[in-house]
Amino acid sequence: MTEIPEDHPRHDSLVTRHRIEDGVDAGITSRQGLIAQGRGEAYDYLLGEETTPSADEAERAAAAHLLLADHPVLSVNGNVAALVPGEIVELAEATGADVEVNLFNRTEERMERIADYLREHGAEDVKGLTADGRIPGLEHERAKVDADGIGDADVVLVPLEDGDRAEALAEMGKTELVIDLNPLSRSAQTASVPIIDNIVRAVPNVTAHARDLADASREELTDIVEGFDREAALEAAEARIRAVGED
Ligand code: ATP
Ligand code: MG
Repeated sequence: MTEIPEDHPRHDSLVTRHRIEDGVDAGITSRQGLIAQGRGEAYDYLLGEETTPSADEAERAAAAHLLLADHPVLSVNGNVAALVPGEIVELAEATGADVEVNLFNRTEERMERIADYLREHGAEDVKGLTADGRIPGLEHERAKVDADGIGDADVVLVPLEDGDRAEALAEMGKTELVIDLNPLSRSAQTASVPIIDNIVRAVPNVTAHARDLADASREELTDIVEGFDREAALEAAEARIRAVGED
């Protein structure tokens, strides 16, 4: 990989892009993942490539949800694995969540590679390979989940999830925490907690909030969850994008 100077104005964005490219070369990320990354970059540019105060609030609410959950699961696809493998494992440890590989374009080979990659980054138990559960309302391959993973979860973190599956999971009554840079995406629109932020910033920040809240009472956590306003979060992100160039 070409060295990107630290002081390059688009340093983080370029590093992120290269990680996705490497993910494709390693058979972890699909080629469509490159397109998804491009869409994300465009929104990130408009949002200022930083975690907004509103996104930070969503990240705190997501941490509270994960800590309150009976069975939280973090869903990992090819882009997530390429960008934040170690950070996902840390979040799982900080919240007691399971990690499950869940692919839009599911192939056994890519499932295995991602699971191996997560194990190399410290994951102990990686779910998704059993695929003995189904999400109702989706076509066969895309409906597959582990019955004792996402199938059984009450709270699911689905970063960069596609709109159909996000809607189907919500219909199953699961609390969905969605990380997606596009506030207009159906995934963000169906989320209980839409986190409009880049996954490379969002996941470590949810972990930081979870650590900060480790000793919080259930009452305090419930207050954070109930105080969160999903509509306001979506509106704040959209307003920020629309205000680009204004001062
Ligand atoms: P819809 O949800 O309306 O069906 P879409 O989800 O089909 O739209 P995709 O290209 O499948 O669009 O999904 C990619 C989504 O992931 C985009 O909304 C994009 O903004 C988001 N995304 C891509 N890279 C990142 C990233 N690094 N961090 C956060 N979000 C990202
Ligand atoms: Mg989407």
